[in-house]
Amino acid sequence: MSRRRADWPADPESLPHPVVDNHTHLETVLRETDDGGWRDDDGGSREGVDDGAGEVWTPSSAKRVQAHLDRAERVGVTRHVQVGCDLDAVTWTDAAVRADRRLLGAVAIHPNEAVLHAGVREMAPDGLEPDPRPRHETPLDEAIARVEEVARGNERVRCIGETGLDFFRAGERGREVQRETFRAHVALAKELDLVLQIHDRDAHDAVVEVLEADGAPERTVFHCFSGDVELARRCAEHGWFMSFAGPVTFRANDELRRAAEAAGPDLVLLETDAPYLTPHPFRGRPNAPYLAALTMRTLAEVLGLELAAACRTVEQNSLALYGPW
Ligand SMILES: [Zn+2]
Repeated sequence: MSRRRADWPADPESLPHPVVDNHTHLETVLRETDDGGWRDDDGGSREGVDDGAGEVWTPSSAKRVQAHLDRAERVGVTRHVQVGCDLDAVTWTDAAVRADRRLLGAVAIHPNEAVLHAGVREMAPDGLEPDPRPRHETPLDEAIARVEEVARGNERVRCIGETGLDFFRAGERGREVQRETFRAHVALAKELDLVLQIHDRDAHDAVVEVLEADGAPERTVFHCFSGDVELARRCAEHGWFMSFAGPVTFRANDELRRAAEAAGPDLVLLETDAPYLTPHPFRGRPNAPYLAALTMRTLAEVLGLELAAACRTVEQNSLALYGPW
């Protein structure tokens, strides 16, 4: 893992119809690429274990966000769901979605963040040491109350997420905290009639169990869908949306492409999960919303649709979920 200046891939060919990036972390894009030098780490999203202080919204943030959104717009990625899922990012997202009409917001306390707010200091199954930041001094219930406050107070926050279970990163006690936090977020999404975006890492069955037991919100999305055909069919039975990120373009992921095919056009969404999970052939380089145009081409092929028709489908599904913006 080395740090160097962000080496952005060239703009992909423009899409024939506008699409929505259903899940991006612009505050992390700014922090990890523009500020800190890019970390060459293809291990996927590291939310909850970042080593920097949280990004703070400043007047210059608006300009920098605008530059990323302008670049995306030029290739047909015209609208975005900005996901703030740590306490600092929740506040950042509240400000960001007021500053640029192309953004809607999603807010939550990420499962790996919840564990730290709860004071659990277990080593992760992969050997990662807990690394609490100043924000984790806030007790978990207060952190969740802050999510609710922002979601209630901002009409452009239309989603609770990402929330769910991360068994890749959590030990025994952490999993318990994650489950209760997930349930609290499910209840909040239902109470406020908002979309729910789910983070499911190595926890497919347990996530479905919670949703079936408590009752899922009417509009539920598996963000960065990572299941197989069977999970895709289970989601489809419930009418849960499945959002596909860069991994659907990776050469080795035939299984994931079969899952996307099984999801079918009616329930499919597109996302970057930027700044990580950069689509093929740019793995290892930084990701940003403009690169959703690459993932969109793969998704169209997998769905067996012409590119323009697939783009229209993604746009319509996104608007049906969140309402117009
Ligand atoms: Zn994410």
